[in-house]
Amino acid sequence: MRDLLDFYANAPLLELGAAADQVRRAKHPDDIVTFIVDRNINYTNVCVADCGFCAFYRRPKHGEGYTLSYEEIGAKIDEAKQLGAVQILMQGGHNPYIPFEWYLELLRYIKKYHPIHIHGFSPSEVDFFSKVFRMDAREIIRELMKAGLDSIPGGGGEILVQRVRDLVARKKAGADRWLEIMEIAHEEGMKTSVTMMYGLGETLAERLEHLQRVRDLQARTNGFTAFICWPLQPENTPMMSNQPKTDAIEYLRTVAISRIVLDNVPNLQASWVTMGMKVGQLALRFGCNDFGSLMIEENVVSAANTTYRTTTAEMERLIRDAGFRPARRRQDYSIIPLDDHSPLQNHDLVSASA
Ligand code: SF4
Repeated sequence: MRDLLDFYANAPLLELGAAADQVRRAKHPDDIVTFIVDRNINYTNVCVADCGFCAFYRRPKHGEGYTLSYEEIGAKIDEAKQLGAVQILMQGGHNPYIPFEWYLELLRYIKKYHPIHIHGFSPSEVDFFSKVFRMDAREIIRELMKAGLDSIPGGGGEILVQRVRDLVARKKAGADRWLEIMEIAHEEGMKTSVTMMYGLGETLAERLEHLQRVRDLQARTNGFTAFICWPLQPENTPMMSNQPKTDAIEYLRTVAISRIVLDNVPNLQASWVTMGMKVGQLALRFGCNDFGSLMIEENVVSAANTTYRTTTAEMERLIRDAGFRPARRRQDYSIIPLDDHSPLQNHDLVSASA
């Protein structure tokens, strides 16, 4: 661990990048860089978790609080599918007013009337359901799967070190619990992604501890398909607007060390939505093999004033200009043949998120 810490903290930037690029090349020798077209649906912004870094949520009874209806969600899915989306990322606040049956019925409704891959309900939400509905997390996951959930996103991971979580997200699933829920999901046959949001006041050693914990879990379950990291977006956040914004160099160093430590996680996504296109392109030489998602709607990062926009054509050009071959993918990273692409692919203006 100490050697890695020294490497992360002190190695010249390009040396770190070269070491990460070597890991990426070994895993993805064909130089294909993938991306997915999807839609982020935040079914509710009502939340009682009060994370200090979150600009998206509203407390219960706040005038701007909302919960989408099934019909609104269905309409968003249809619109997204017309634009070539192959999945929805469905996450929401910890809303104490929604019963469990609402979620199950929503999943069934989507699968019946608007079928699409549902990547939804982060471990923090599953933990919240488990507490509120007094059910075991395994039971929650089984019920969600039975109703139509296909995979679980790595949201709410932030930094998986309890000291840091106590500072910024005390009411949310703790580090051990977050990992436990991921482990249960993997045991139940569910694939998941995993994330790290840094810049919350953690040390470099704590970031490495986060990565090491993810690596250890992956060694047991092999259930993580991808890792995504991005820095805190402090603007508009309730507690962290004074926290200094980290820069592109720190992002590239962090991506690189992540690729090196997580050599058992197959895919690393570049977070161009928080870092911008140029840094996103550079990240492809610092260990990333995926350009993340091109989303038709994104609320959480844009609530903190960070929204980069692009089109599928632009996305493909950016990947080509960085020296790679672009390909659209599904959630499981299988490539979508060109013939299957939506005819609207070059005309849709969309925004994106990690
Ligand atoms: S990050 Fe999620 S859990 Fe935390 S306050 Fe925002 S919506 Fe709630």
